[in-house]
Amino acid sequence: MSCTICPRNCKIDRTAAKGFCGCSSVPLIARAALHYDEEPSISGKSGSGTIFFSGCNLKCIFCQNMVLQDGTLGEPFTPERLADVMQKLAALGANNINLVTPTPHKDAIIQALRLAKERGLSIPIVYNTNSYETVETIRAYEGLIDIYLPDLKYVDARLSQAFSRAADYFPVAIAAIEEMMRQVGPMVTNEAGLAVRGVRIRHLVLPGCVFDTREVLREIKERFGADCPISLMSQYTPIPSCTRKPLDRPLTKREYEAALDCCLSLGFTNVYTQELSSVGASYTPPFSDHVDL
Ligand code: SF4
Repeated sequence: MSCTICPRNCKIDRTAAKGFCGCSSVPLIARAALHYDEEPSISGKSGSGTIFFSGCNLKCIFCQNMVLQDGTLGEPFTPERLADVMQKLAALGANNINLVTPTPHKDAIIQALRLAKERGLSIPIVYNTNSYETVETIRAYEGLIDIYLPDLKYVDARLSQAFSRAADYFPVAIAAIEEMMRQVGPMVTNEAGLAVRGVRIRHLVLPGCVFDTREVLREIKERFGADCPISLMSQYTPIPSCTRKPLDRPLTKREYEAALDCCLSLGFTNVYTQELSSVGASYTPPFSDHVDL
């Protein structure tokens, strides 16, 4: 079968070869555990039942989870085992099942979700994506995903090409997010403050790139309105392998404050912000080639 799951359009048979994402037809999982570092509406007190897939179709040069990018670390999972793990995470008290970098594994994940739901899995399912997605792939999840957490990383094509080898990132990502909004609307929470349904758009402010953060925020407001739920992340941490300027240094407090000021002046009303102490903090969980569930 020729893979066209994402906009890379590699058109290769993943049972025999690997494309840009580094993934074969069998998903590798490098971590499945309760995770407490998402927004409070996702992690809550009990944690988010997070499944980190190995491999990535965007491969940003500054990625905190770089160890997962080439798609070799992790344990192979059948759809049946993936469904089992979702149920085990639910039994541990997870608020939701959080699928991180799921894009290349569409077919296995859809099979697993159908199976787990048939067996009674009822907590919300979160699709946590870099947003470099085709509209067709997001459409395939309609009715299976409750919450979308899409990144909107860049507007400027020069940045998306330089940092993620995707000059078309913005038009592709915004079309995918529009499809997510069509399916589930903006994020809504229950009386406990936990997300039950909808979209929250995430943006990581990059050092030296606040000019593009402003464009990202303007685009979100123009398309989805100032009440669109957003997360403005300050946690950028330079990794040793990324020596490209300006990504070789942490975000400054002044830069994050400039991004917050832009949010305020545009009138956003539903913004998750991070403490300025998050600047330079590490949010990378431990990964391994074996999953303990
Ligand atoms: S999912 Fe992987 S193999 Fe398929 S088109 Fe995207 S990058 Fe290529």
